Amino acid sequence: MTETHLAILKAATVLILSATAGISQTPAPAATPVQPTQPALPKPLPGFYRNLIVVDPAHGGPDAGARLADNAVEKSVTLTFAQRLRPALQGQGFTVTSTRDSDPSDLLSTDQRAGVANHDRPLVCLVLHATSTGSGVHIVSSALEPAAESSRALRWNEAQSATIPLSLKLANEVGLALTNAHLSVNLLRASVPPIDNLICPAVLIEIAPLAPQGGSRTPVTDAAYQQRVAEAIALGLASFRTHNAPAPSSVPPAAPPPLPRAVPPAPAAKPATNPAAAKPSVQPAKPAASGASR
Ligand SMILES: [Zn+2]
Repeated sequence: MTETHLAILKAATVLILSATAGISQTPAPAATPVQPTQPALPKPLPGFYRNLIVVDPAHGGPDAGARLADNAVEKSVTLTFAQRLRPALQGQGFTVTSTRDSDPSDLLSTDQRAGVANHDRPLVCLVLHATSTGSGVHIVSSALEPAAESSRALRWNEAQSATIPLSLKLANEVGLALTNAHLSVNLLRASVPPIDNLICPAVLIEIAPLAPQGGSRTPVTDAAYQQRVAEAIALGLASFRTHNAPAPSSVPPAAPPPLPRAVPPAPAAKPATNPAAAKPSVQPAKPAASGASR
């Protein structure tokens, strides 16, 4: 994240889901924690979309993002991490598309990134950032209020409001998976583009160094650390899919049509005692007349 992003985050951070077991969080502020609203029952998604994840490695091109340890720049770390995340997600049966697979020469605006993600109609959008401050993984959900169910026309800057309950569940699932992988997690809420412009369940995932108390510090550029985070995220998304995106139909697929019955082979021609008896065996077999070649 850039300094600006961090400033926005710090100002807008609200801890959520304090009741979630197992996720370590910094103490809740005095303000009343935001309670996730009761989500509507999940709607079945067509098979392709319930397995589609859009990954957005933030920054790129002229926007280098934050300068991290070891002279790494954030735009490179987010791209590398996205490349680790892709096979981990594929291993859970997901199809992955990305807003960028290289360092573009031109700036890719957050509106453009949101446009790409919204067009794809994925199960989940993940916006990836990296930072050299803090510890563990920061998971940021939109700070927008959930839209009323009747509200159909969504403003661009509030598009995510229709999906807030699912995005909070997504943050929860990813947070639990990271916690199960013994990685520290902070769940936050903030208004950070392009999250607010996304109509899919979405979270911003910011990798920070791993800095356990009394332990050695692992930088965000560490390959093994990135791999652990990637695999945990993939497990979290698989759990989210199971709980929130039921398969299109629980009815078992129709049985395949029966294979055509094998036509019994014509009986072996008896030794040709005379040429006339051997003649029928070279004619096309007539299945109804099984064995009746006489
Ligand atoms: Zn960033």
